[in-house]
Amino acid sequence: DRSISSLFASNRPLRSLEFFPPKNDDGVIALRESAEALKAIEWDFVSVTYGAGGSTRDRTAQVSALLKDELGFTVMPHLTCVGHSRDELEAHADRLFADGFRNIMTLRGDPPKGETTFEVATDGLRYANELVTLLKARHPDFCLGVGGYPEKHPEAFSLETDLDNLKRKVDAGADFITTQLFFDNAIYYRFVEKCRAAGITVPIVPGIMPVLSLKQITRIAAMCGTALPAQLNRRLEVAAESPDVVEIIGIDWALDQIRGLIANGAPGYHLYILNRARPALALAAGLAA
Ligand code: FAD
Repeated sequence: DRSISSLFASNRPLRSLEFFPPKNDDGVIALRESAEALKAIEWDFVSVTYGAGGSTRDRTAQVSALLKDELGFTVMPHLTCVGHSRDELEAHADRLFADGFRNIMTLRGDPPKGETTFEVATDGLRYANELVTLLKARHPDFCLGVGGYPEKHPEAFSLETDLDNLKRKVDAGADFITTQLFFDNAIYYRFVEKCRAAGITVPIVPGIMPVLSLKQITRIAAMCGTALPAQLNRRLEVAAESPDVVEIIGIDWALDQIRGLIANGAPGYHLYILNRARPALALAAGLAA
């Protein structure tokens, strides 16, 4: 696989997608259909999230291989510290490297379902910066992405301490940052400014989620600590009775966001698409010059 860092060097905005591992075989079939439909447009890379349980982790591997080897995408599997010893993390990294992956989204991870706090595994790692260090030491050729939080990580005491911790990840060798989803570009611009002032120089890719349902986005936004702007909320409420209209409102908002971001120099956009092709295709088409 190509390293994503080399793609940033092209100095054009990159477009990328995030998939999640489906729960069962039917979900994998649906994901394959989505991914095939998405091939109608060229994406710079796609990523696949990493869950907390064994079976979902196997699916991350399965889906990452499918997207890379069968569909020809540049794939960035995610990896988290949750439930893994250092040895397991190293073995996992070796396997990814041997299988031809060159990019990893490097995360601490969310606690498993039903648990509310992150627990360090036996002989495991506590923070994402430690995983960045481990992976870079093991395979210096890995290009590593890390997560950034324009509205602060929910557990962080303040945006300032959170930025210090983001800087730790970059100082440990992270090559770029992908942000948590946000709906107000002003928040991203302020975040980038603060990162630059703190000496963080790597690309900061905005993470954008086209809204598909008011109920779902209200839950996701609360979980991520992302504010839902009053105007977006009102539009979604008016549209609430019709899922098709909600989708149009969501795409319109995301389109507006991405146009603004690119015009203001963002290095690209990463779409949280929840494995659905249509909104991503609509966005990419709507952004064609
Ligand atoms: P960290 O960077 O380790 O930060 C966690 C908290 O600890 C923060 O509050 C931070 O300020 C603090 N902190 C960090 N380092 C230190 C330090 N050295 N000393 C003291 N405090 C510190 N979750 C998944 O489970 N699977 C996924 O695939 C996944 N993909 C994601 C992709 C993106 C782009 C993003 C933004 C998030 C993703 N998440 C995923 C969610 C993420 O795992 C959670 O937000 C998690 O709670 C924090 O992960 P992190 O890597 O940002 O952690």
